[in-house]
Amino acid sequence: MRTIIEPFRIKSVEPIRMTSPAEREAILAAAGYNLFRIPSDDIVIDLLTDSGTGAMSAEQWAAVMRGDESYAGSPSFRRFEKAVRDITGFAHVIPTHQGRAAERILATTMLRAGDVVPNNTHFDTTRANIEAVGATALDLASPASRELSASAPFKGDIDLEALAALLENPPSRVPVVFVTVTNNGGGGQPVSMANLRAASGLCRRHGVPFYLDACRFAENAYFIRQRETGYAGKSLLEIAREMFALADGCTMSAKKDGMANIGGFLCSNDERLARAETELLILTEGFPTYGGLAGRDLEAIAVGLYEALDLSYQQYRHASVQYLGEHLTAAGVPILQPPGGHAIYVDAASFLAHLPREQFPGQALAIELYRHAGIRSVEVGSVMFGRRDPATGIEQPGPNELVRLAMPRRVYTQSHVDYIVETFAEITAERHRISGVRIVEQPAALRHFTAIFETVSLA
Ligand SMILES: *Cc1c(COP(=O)(O)O)cnc(C)c1O
Repeated sequence: MRTIIEPFRIKSVEPIRMTSPAEREAILAAAGYNLFRIPSDDIVIDLLTDSGTGAMSAEQWAAVMRGDESYAGSPSFRRFEKAVRDITGFAHVIPTHQGRAAERILATTMLRAGDVVPNNTHFDTTRANIEAVGATALDLASPASRELSASAPFKGDIDLEALAALLENPPSRVPVVFVTVTNNGGGGQPVSMANLRAASGLCRRHGVPFYLDACRFAENAYFIRQRETGYAGKSLLEIAREMFALADGCTMSAKKDGMANIGGFLCSNDERLARAETELLILTEGFPTYGGLAGRDLEAIAVGLYEALDLSYQQYRHASVQYLGEHLTAAGVPILQPPGGHAIYVDAASFLAHLPREQFPGQALAIELYRHAGIRSVEVGSVMFGRRDPATGIEQPGPNELVRLAMPRRVYTQSHVDYIVETFAEITAERHRISGVRIVEQPAALRHFTAIFETVSLA
């Protein structure tokens, strides 16, 4: 069969409130043209993030009812720990309320001021937690990742030459090396097993612990199965185990491939380190058998981690992201190639080439997607990564002007994706009429969450 169907039936539905263009125009104005400020019940299709927005399965809801909420020694923790150990092979499993809590505990125990921590691309919370202890977060993305429109199978790889040079001649202490699978900051691009093996080998030769930021480990395993020689016949569980076996520990947000709405964990094989981490966990998150989560959350994650490794689920998920990418490309929409595992990134600078970068083409496109069809996306461009010089008022642009369409897990069907494609087709025909925006109010940091915009009339 050529048709890849959603490998599930729908047992419970959540109505979508349809809005008219006039209503959306008023909602946009009230929100200061910032999509983060729009109430989610005013959104038709929400592609803001794939984090914590997935649908849980009947098995997960059944497990939720088994959740044991005892403060200490809950069997829910034992089931969670067993699942994490079975998949990752790590000896010590520390539950946390989400990924960034795992990062904070790791940064506080493993790092000190002046250290350097390399990664293929640091996720923003990872970078912030490393910088919060005075260390430097260094991105060593592979050279292939810099070409937005050029397709390559493993654009998420870490730059091995740069990593080797750093470890040979460290400018200061390198207490841990990270690789993020898939590379979220780099467009959801996968990392090959060969790259993980080589990076792990370099780290072991230099006695440096090698960690995975494992948020999308199952999507990465699927890409390895599809694209890397020798893996076509393996199960996703076998591939995931092989990935984790190369590492000494991991951080994880269960809001991604844990298929849960909240949760995370921190793993290692180092008993002394795990003891220090557990002490901090008790201080900031909770007792080691729940770590900031309810027993029912631990149960949902224990089931969800295996569901993420189900081949037919990954086939459907990738088919749907791929389908969106192919149809946008066919409609003449420039996207980051190839489509990633969890999202499509539209190159708004070339799509809205009539807008100068000071007029935020990414934000302008994100606004238009909402105005036209009620679709919420997120700008990953100069609003997020640029800054305004407080003295001169001049805007420093970010590295790219992208708009991310992130796909929640098991939430939307083929017809929702067709609706997104049709929206782009209609917008593309009239794109020269889309006007830019300027920022009229912004906070000192993380301005994308709260800034207020107004439209700039077209010249
Ligand atoms: C989401 C994410 C995190 C942080 O996890 P939270 O659960 O949001 O705290 C870290 N790294 C990557 C790659 C992520 O995608």
